[in-house]
Amino acid sequence: MNKNKKNYKALKVNKGVELPSSVNPNIKTKLANRFKKEKLTLEQYFNGIRSGNKVILSKAITLIESSLPEDKTLAKELINKCLPYSGNSVRIGITGVPGAGKSTFIETFGLYTIQKGKKVAVLAIDPSSTKTKGSILGDKIRMEKLSTNENVFIRPSSSAGTLGGVARNTRESMIILEAGGFNLIIVETVGVGQSETAVSQMTDFFILMMITGAGDDIQGIKRGIMEMSDMILINKADGDNIKKAEMTKQELEYALHLFQPGESNWNPKVLTVSAIENRGIDKSWQTINEYIKLTKENGYFELNRKRQLLQTLNENIKQTLIDTFYSDKTIGRELKILENMIADGKITPYQAAEKLFEIYFNGKP
Ligand code: GDP
Repeated sequence: MNKNKKNYKALKVNKGVELPSSVNPNIKTKLANRFKKEKLTLEQYFNGIRSGNKVILSKAITLIESSLPEDKTLAKELINKCLPYSGNSVRIGITGVPGAGKSTFIETFGLYTIQKGKKVAVLAIDPSSTKTKGSILGDKIRMEKLSTNENVFIRPSSSAGTLGGVARNTRESMIILEAGGFNLIIVETVGVGQSETAVSQMTDFFILMMITGAGDDIQGIKRGIMEMSDMILINKADGDNIKKAEMTKQELEYALHLFQPGESNWNPKVLTVSAIENRGIDKSWQTINEYIKLTKENGYFELNRKRQLLQTLNENIKQTLIDTFYSDKTIGRELKILENMIADGKITPYQAAEKLFEIYFNGKP
């Protein structure tokens, strides 16, 4: 063939020889089928969880976090199946500004409690992670020693939108983990917005972690967070910092005295610790156990858990109502019209809301 011709090709294909496909045409469906097959059944999830299989525990939590309707149905069934096996744990919440030393403490503390025979799960509620993608537990390589321990399960915060959504996932993850034999659950959060409240409402014992600063130690903490704390840890009480930490401790103890004792009858404790030097860890654990003993004896432990269940029920009702309301097509359409009418001053927001409820509950146009 003339090389100068337009249709000349350097690569010559002999007639009659069929080119083998470089990619198996069935591979797509094969792969899809394989993934489908990998979807676990309710029984497989349940048995895996009960035997403490970490891969399956992880998958189960992913299932809980999924927004696919079929996953949601399966997740509900799974939680119902796990519920009778849950509850047998101590649930600890911990908050503090970034850099206070929470992950360092959780690592040291976690390793300590494992020696005491505990199986430890660490979860996080991090409302900032959805916006900044910077999850507090995202880089938990810091907890290296802890995460490689066979009696530990660490799960970074899910990026499931709202705080309410993340909190619900965390609650359900706790049920799964407790059914998997984890009897010490630590839920970590940073001091952002309402996340501390969410964590304190799903745990038995709430820790505020602090560090000594430039004289503004106490002023810097929101009163509400102090009030919900069962124990305040002043971390980094090591080296030159020991004296300052002791002073902060005294100031905090004084401040706490001004609060009325809570229903639990527990007087919140202030301890100085060093997560790095492994100091005050045993005292922290001892304090938690004193609290558990006291509140189990006086009935507050159970009462608090029951209340938390009712809170969960209420939140669930609210969230479901909100979700179904906003996902209603007619509401979506009417809402847009009414929004414009509000902007034009033709209707008040209250009238608009009333109109929407009429449509939603009574089917009136
Ligand atoms: P988090 O953001 O609250 O989880 O804080 P990290 O655990 O990541 O700790 C922040 C920094 O403080 C790290 O550089 C740690 O090494 C350091 N740190 C944590 N605990 C201690 C401690 O007990 N003493 C000292 N001196 N430094 C600590």
